[in-house]
Amino acid sequence: MPVIGTAGHVDHGKSTLIEALTGIDPDRLREEKERGLTIDLGFAWLTLPSGLEVGVVDVPGHERFIKNMLAGAGGMDLALLVVAADEGPRPQTAEHLAILDLLEVPAGIVVLTKCDLVESDYADLVEAELEDVLAGSRMSGAPVVRVSALSGLGLDILRNTIDAVLATLPARRDLARPRLPVDRAFTIQGFGAVVTGTLTDGTLRVGDEMELFPEGLRCRVRGLQRHRTKVDGLGPGTRGAVNLSGVRTEEIHRGMVLARPGSLTSASSLVARLTASRILLHPLSHESEVTLLAATSETQARVRLLEAETLARGADCWAQIVLQSPIALLPGDHVVIRTPDETVAGGPVVAVNGRRLRRSHRPTVEGLERLLAGSPAERLADALVAGPRSMAEIASEFGIPEADATQLAALLVSSGEAQLEERLLIGRTWLRARSDAVVHEVATFLAANPLRRSAPREHVRRAVALDPTAFEIVVSSVVHSAEMETRGAGLAPVGYEPTLSRAQEEEISVFLASIRAEPFSPPTDRLPSAPVLAYLVERGEIETTAGGVVFAAEAFAEMVRRVKAHMADEGSLSLAATRDLFGTSRKYAQAFLEHLDALRITRRNGDLRTLL
Ligand code: GDP
Ligand code: MG
Repeated sequence: MPVIGTAGHVDHGKSTLIEALTGIDPDRLREEKERGLTIDLGFAWLTLPSGLEVGVVDVPGHERFIKNMLAGAGGMDLALLVVAADEGPRPQTAEHLAILDLLEVPAGIVVLTKCDLVESDYADLVEAELEDVLAGSRMSGAPVVRVSALSGLGLDILRNTIDAVLATLPARRDLARPRLPVDRAFTIQGFGAVVTGTLTDGTLRVGDEMELFPEGLRCRVRGLQRHRTKVDGLGPGTRGAVNLSGVRTEEIHRGMVLARPGSLTSASSLVARLTASRILLHPLSHESEVTLLAATSETQARVRLLEAETLARGADCWAQIVLQSPIALLPGDHVVIRTPDETVAGGPVVAVNGRRLRRSHRPTVEGLERLLAGSPAERLADALVAGPRSMAEIASEFGIPEADATQLAALLVSSGEAQLEERLLIGRTWLRARSDAVVHEVATFLAANPLRRSAPREHVRRAVALDPTAFEIVVSSVVHSAEMETRGAGLAPVGYEPTLSRAQEEEISVFLASIRAEPFSPPTDRLPSAPVLAYLVERGEIETTAGGVVFAAEAFAEMVRRVKAHMADEGSLSLAATRDLFGTSRKYAQAFLEHLDALRITRRNGDLRTLL
């Protein structure tokens, strides 16, 4: 059940045309009647010659009400661009035309109204002038129909033309995710709150549990009406009225979206492919404050242009838009931005709630371009190049329910493009790149420290700039693939051993022999260099202490054993007792005990130590 709507300059005969076509006066508000001016959206319906029923939205033409026009144009399948034959194209003819372009309204018909007021030669001239206005727009080449609401001239042709154009449009998609951007909310005595709007992406039935986003008001469908007739269900693309229970009219306003509970997320930022209006006067600059309009909602927002400093008439650019208050929208929806003076730009949303994007960064733009072109699975695979995501993050970024995110994730896992670990979805490309980085970093460290058996994990983590969770994922991957092995707090290629020079080997064996010869009083005057000591620590050959005393590992272990036995008997240990236990000097006893404290084997309490 398609929706058609009007567009065009004020007083060019839009509302009169709708009444002539439908028999319904779309100017429903008393104020509008008195002033003879459409201020807000008007609604009617019509059965076409083919029998097809269509909803009709009448929009205000006055520039002061352009936001209302935008709210109405969002759900249209077909726009009737109304131009009065006696006046020809005027400013809002061009502005509305530009908006229809930005919103990518699928089809259009130019309706030349008030043809009873002019000779047909004059109408020819106006049509020629219109051609220039339409040139380059999506409506260039659209059918033109001459009518008079007064005499009825051309109305049948118009009805048939509407039928013919609608027949060429694809059916509205049913994604089993109904959503209805609210354009009106009012109370009907005895029934309570009623909202109206154009339903997309799914079907509504009486009794359905619903939620009004982004405020999160839960409610239930109490009744449905289409064109003032009670119905049990509403299909995608239909204009309808929904009677809700569980909410009060005062809580509802235009811009809310009625959808299944939990089926939408609120976007507080979005990325869109913006195209500037073809009649833009003031180029949009980076970091501009604007009004963002999406379906029937609007908010203040800040625009970050990702590829340029300014966006001029007709140009396009990727932009990240930060919203002042959240809006429930989905990738694929169209947004329009306005300044107080003019409609600036618009285009499709490709992502919501993503991270802050880099400007003038080729790979970022290429990723966005693929996002614009790709299927949801492809878009997710692309997003994963930046890093792993939880299901909640995917749901938020793609504006889909978590159940859908899980399904999408399963798709990528089964195609081998991603894997699930610790409830994070990890992209193959990201994992390969990070794994290579870790392998490279370990190799770099070991080359710079030829005596080390491994690279400290924390050093590697910082060098590859990963957060701890992501780093653990990468490490377990390189361990799993047998590229690396973990050695204590270090990482090394599997089986890696440093190669020593003959001189170094000689130095080490002399040193080890010297400390083993006097295990409890190892000489401290000829210690090897720090890298050699680190090498021996890593191999488990020695125990170094802060006091500069280096024990052979087996001697140290023996000392610990004896000390523990002593304490089991005596309850505590003094410096003097330690000295006597090992027949050593005060210097060694002290270095040994302080090291035990540092290892948290013992705790010092005055002159005595106890086991921890
Ligand atoms: P809108 O602002 O575009 O909705 O214009 P309206 O429908 O309110 O019409 C503006 C004025 O033009 C009204 O006074 C109408 O009576 C008049 N009008 C509309 N259509 C025709 C027409 O086909 N012929 C003549 N002569 N007047 C018309
Ligand atoms: Mg009007």
